[in-house]
Amino acid sequence: MSQYPPEKIYAAARTLLPVFAPTLRRQVEDLLAQAARGVDTHLHLLDLLSRDEATRRQLRDLLKSEDVAYHLGEYSGLSGEQYVTKAGDKFACPHCDYRYPIGEEGEQPVPCKQHPKARLEKAPPEEGA
Ligand SMILES: [Zn+2]
Repeated sequence: MSQYPPEKIYAAARTLLPVFAPTLRRQVEDLLAQAARGVDTHLHLLDLLSRDEATRRQLRDLLKSEDVAYHLGEYSGLSGEQYVTKAGDKFACPHCDYRYPIGEEGEQPVPCKQHPKARLEKAPPEEGA
């Protein structure tokens, strides 16, 4: 499935996050957080998500539905799109220093004022802060 661009794989993984079992979700969240820091993790994600037959089928369907995953990756605020959040999470604009800390589980981050169309990335927890 490596013919898909990394951004699309990240977007599909993010879209599927809510349906994963907790253990898998943590692994995927970790890989997405690394990706947000600029580490190339899409092949690792593909590998992880291909181990389970049901998950692999969902991922393949998402990747095949051309525009959907792209739009999910590039725009926030589309109908039905929700960020998966919990208290203490921090969301970051991929284009500037904007950060939005989550106060309670399920709270939706406010989009960046300078880049309102950018989808906020979940920022990794700050080490030793
Ligand atoms: Zn921004």
